[in-house]
Amino acid sequence: MGETKGKIIAVSAPSGAGKTTIIKNILKRFPEIVFSVSATTRPKRPNETDGVEYFFITEDEFKKKIENGEFVEWEKFYDYYYGTYKSFIDDNINSGKTVLLEIDVKGALSIKRIYPDAHLIYIMPPSFEELVKRLKERKTETEADLKKRIERAKMELSQKDKFDYIVVNEDLNKAIEETASLIKKIIHKEI
Ligand code: 5GP
Repeated sequence: MGETKGKIIAVSAPSGAGKTTIIKNILKRFPEIVFSVSATTRPKRPNETDGVEYFFITEDEFKKKIENGEFVEWEKFYDYYYGTYKSFIDDNINSGKTVLLEIDVKGALSIKRIYPDAHLIYIMPPSFEELVKRLKERKTETEADLKKRIERAKMELSQKDKFDYIVVNEDLNKAIEETASLIKKIIHKEI
């Protein structure tokens, strides 16, 4: 019925750049935005709830969903799978809603190939050293996982120029304001 399609906003960052805190704040501020809850095979962290941050599923379940074509994109890294549900994205944008994805760099670039109108935001840590420090302080990963995340962060940082917007998270409040202002402009079709 000629309803305008909703927008897709993908937010990426190397882990430890403060992305999750920024996204939680944005979702509170923009209740009209729906968060795309991905599926993952990674173990649930103590502060996470199934169906809120992720749908935590087994590797077998994940592989079945790949076979059934349920994911618009998926990636395997740090030994775990992560995937974005295609029907969730399509149902929401078709009913005019804005969908926000928290997704790794490769996933964001896949989303842009499939949905060229998607807006990609990259959250940068102030420096590589700061990123390593934050990851270590977080203490949510084992030593082996931490090493893998640091290696991956190097690769992810090298991809930042492929994104539409870059926000540097030097000061968390400023980074939240900057991201909110970008999202407001995207929703109001000013950018
Ligand atoms: P974490 O294990 O720290 O929650 O997430 C690890 C990485 O997976 C982060 O960069 C996060 O953005 C990314 N991620 C979460 N969901 C998806 C997804 O559905 N697809 C892809 N490609 N990456 C995802």
